[in-house]
This record gives sequence, structure tokens and C-alpha cells, in this order.
Amino acid sequence: QADNPDKKSIEIRMKVIKNKILVMSSKGGVGKSTVSSLLSYGFSKRNNNTTKVSVLDVDICGPSIPKLMGVDKLQIINSEYGWIPPKVQQANHDIKVMSVGFLLGTPDAPVIWKGPRKTTMIRRFLKDTFWGKQDYLIIDTPPGTSDEHLSIINSLKSCNPDGAVLVTTPQDLSCDTVKKEISLCRQLNVPIIGIIENLSGFVCPCCDEVTEIFKSDGGKKLAEQFNIPFLGKIPIDTNLGKSAENGVCSICDHPNTPGTLAIHSIIDKI
Ligand code: ADP
Repeated sequence: QADNPDKKSIEIRMKVIKNKILVMSSKGGVGKSTVSSLLSYGFSKRNNNTTKVSVLDVDICGPSIPKLMGVDKLQIINSEYGWIPPKVQQANHDIKVMSVGFLLGTPDAPVIWKGPRKTTMIRRFLKDTFWGKQDYLIIDTPPGTSDEHLSIINSLKSCNPDGAVLVTTPQDLSCDTVKKEISLCRQLNVPIIGIIENLSGFVCPCCDEVTEIFKSDGGKKLAEQFNIPFLGKIPIDTNLGKSAENGVCSICDHPNTPGTLAIHSIIDKI
């Protein structure tokens, strides 16, 4: 990729963000954005809700973070310090969210952008947003291995990103394509923090019996095969789905459901 003319400005913004974590998946619909939002809620609850967290959605063509986190009606504010991102303000959270979703005139308009335009946008998100001092920046990427991945990885190269969390479902179809994410990370020297197996079984709310709707352990076996930490399984939890539809924090609304307990245990390993 061409030299990054914004390198210095990006470094200045990123220097005061302690941890930068990419969330990646092979396919759409495996729960990558759900995991990104859950990680951000979970991290922000640390240290009595004093941990500062921001989310950057670089899924340029299919931004779902604003709706998922209930900020889709809010807007970016222009200021002398840069773009002030909308904030999730529910249940003591104070999470900044940046997404191309805020810049689209109509939410249903398709984004038909070529690679260079996406790269420019991603760099602007990094350098023009007034992130301020943060403990975590969670970066939700589109499915697959595309322009957005190259852009974000190259833009952050000199900013010490922690690495990538890979999300898969237990099925071979998803696990097989995650191997491409693993190769991409290894080729571009992005550390892999670990693999999360989402939609992993259904826990009956009445009797706690686990039904393996798909198959089991696909993500775990993949982690073993590639010698990558396995961070844990998140079951299908209807509460997670409902909270996502309503744009509310599921781990605040349903603190003891299987999905919430799973995400806390995952966060403890990161
Ligand atoms: P992706 O970002 O990979 O395209 P999403 O995070 O948008 O996927 O998830 C797709 C759909 O599946 C959403 O409606 C979301 O609420 C739902 N979903 C994801 N993970 C779970 C889960 N563990 N339990 C229940 N619903 C889930």
C-alpha cells in the first residue's frame, strides 16, 4: 500500500489509547458486531465503570454498530478538536462510537466505494476523531479479508495495536474461512489475541439443557490446530438478540444469562 501521509496525525491520536483491538470474522452474520459491542460494554464496566472505551466501525458498506449500540439517531459534532463521536449513554456507560453510518444521508443508501476512498475514510476516522485518552479502542471490521482490513492494519502498524480477536461459529463453513483471517494476520504481523466461538449451542432458559444447534467445538479445534488461544464460546442467547434489536446493553439488562456470563469469562482472558 502507498505510504500513509496521515501517519503522524494518526500516531498522535492513537498514542493516548492504551489498547487497540480488531474484531474480525470470516463471514457475515456470525456475530462479529455483536461481539464488538459486548466487548466494549464489558471492558467499560471494569474498575467501577471508569474504564474508557471507544468503538470504531470500519464496516464501511454494512455499518451495524450504531443501531446495535442504540446511537443511530445521534450525530457526529464538528469541533475545533476534530469530530466528536456520538456516545452510548446508558447504564453508566460512556462509550464513544464512530462509524460511516453517521455520515450517510439516508440509512438505506448503499455505500458503493472503491478501495482508495475506503482507505481515506478509515484514516480520517483515526486522525480526525477526537478520541481523547482511552483505555480501549475496539475496531469492528467487515467480514472477510478486504480493503478495509488492509487499510486499518496498515494505518495502525506504527501504533502498537494489541491484535485481533477472531469470531467464528462452530461450523466448518465458518471455521474454514477463518483460516484466511489467520493467514492475513500472520502475513501482516498482526498478533492474534484469540478465537471466540459464537452461536455455540443453545442453553434452554427453563432447564439449562444445552442443545448443539449446529456442531460443537469448531472454533476450539481451530484454535488448537493453529496454536492460538481459545477465548471461549458464546451460546445462542435470545436476550442478546433482543438487546441488539433494541440497541441496548445486554450485559446490563441481563447480567446472569448464558451469553453475558460467557462474555465476562472471555474478557477476563483478554
Ligand atoms: P456480523 O457482525 O458477524 O454480521 P451480527 O453481530 O450483526 O453479525 O449478528 C447477526 C445477528 O445475530 C444479529 O441479529 C445478532 O443480534 C444475532 N446474534 C449474534 N450473536 C448472537 C448470540 N450469541 N445469541 C443470539 N443472537 C445473536
